[in-house]
Amino acid sequence: MTKITRRGFNKKLAKGAGGAALALHMPLACGMGQDHKKLGIALVGLGGYSTYQLAPALEQTQHCYLAGIVTGTPAKERSWANKYRIPESNIYNYQSFDAIKDNAEIDVVYVVLPNSMHAEFAIRAAEAGKHVICEKPMGMNVAECDAIIKACSDNGVKLGMGYRLHSEPYTKAVKEFVREKTFGEVLYVASEAAYRSMGNPNQWRLNKNLSGGGALVNMGVYAIQAAIYATGENPVSVAAQEFSTRPEYFKETDETITAQFEFPGGAIANMMTSHNIRANRLHAECTKGWFELDPASTYIPLAGRTSRGELNFRQESQQKLQMDDFAKHVLFDEPNLAPGEMGKRDMLIVEAIYTSIAEDGKKQTLNFEPNFGFGG
Ligand code: NAD
Repeated sequence: MTKITRRGFNKKLAKGAGGAALALHMPLACGMGQDHKKLGIALVGLGGYSTYQLAPALEQTQHCYLAGIVTGTPAKERSWANKYRIPESNIYNYQSFDAIKDNAEIDVVYVVLPNSMHAEFAIRAAEAGKHVICEKPMGMNVAECDAIIKACSDNGVKLGMGYRLHSEPYTKAVKEFVREKTFGEVLYVASEAAYRSMGNPNQWRLNKNLSGGGALVNMGVYAIQAAIYATGENPVSVAAQEFSTRPEYFKETDETITAQFEFPGGAIANMMTSHNIRANRLHAECTKGWFELDPASTYIPLAGRTSRGELNFRQESQQKLQMDDFAKHVLFDEPNLAPGEMGKRDMLIVEAIYTSIAEDGKKQTLNFEPNFGFGG
């Protein structure tokens, strides 16, 4: 099979794939024709995602660095401070957090807490005058998304979602295929984002008060996102179904959901998300061929192929790329690839899916402005 490299496919795409600099843990970014301050990021919530993905990625970033931590677990303070050379003055707990407003070394607060805590900490960060990155799902409901967006706007700070895939080369290629109609018009998209949960039945993801929902608000967000970037449009309707096979484990939250979308240009999409089934794929059938990613939304490595050949792009930490892209948005006014409106749009779709399920699969109309929530 022919290999389509990122550089060979599109020069524009290759633009962002420059050599990874050896990141020094220092607040000055050098090169690229100018020296400038690296943005200081404070991670709020030091669980699995911060520990194994974000903090290591922040050792590789060129435009931001791990400057501070906010944790509710005192034992983590020392180990993180030692490992990442974080000064005592940049360590906060949930109570002392608001004092971060007086800390000039912290520019961005990255909220990586259970979903029920996103809105509170994103709003407190904005009120402290800090730019905000919020993990997905943005909040527990659309009203919380609106409150976060308003707080950031009122306080003049930037807001980005932790949607790492928008900075990732395979996903960027999909968006480019759609924009350029490389394979003609997209007719049908199948998107799946799911894993099998067997762990602690008391984890917060299975507790509706902390998570806001089950598979749909977790992996389902990726399946919704993929249906949108693989068609290049916001959906005009959705109908959904829920399946439950392990009710003793999934007591409060959804286990498996399928949903069908209609798009204004005529494309249709079918998505599946689950906490009981393993699947991670995006496939699009078009008038002049097809493209697919499999896996489509895991961390590296992603893989993809098209009716014209295999895709072969450079694999780097998605989180590194994502946080540098947000830093470039703040520092140089480059496009915000995953703005707050994108998080709100996805929550509007999540709510429509839950409504459809509650109404026995009845089709729900969605009324988005064209491109509402699309990033730059
Ligand atoms: P986790 O369970 O590993 O960590 C949660 C953290 O929150 C822990 O440090 C815990 O101490 C703290 N916490 C504070 N109050 C808590 C409470 N009442 N109950 C439980 N924990 C509490 O979770 P995680 O996997 O790090 O996920 C955190 C956020 O990041 C979630 O919103 C999740 O959706 C998101 N996430 C995003 C990605 C991605 O690829 N973008 C990947 C994983 C997680």
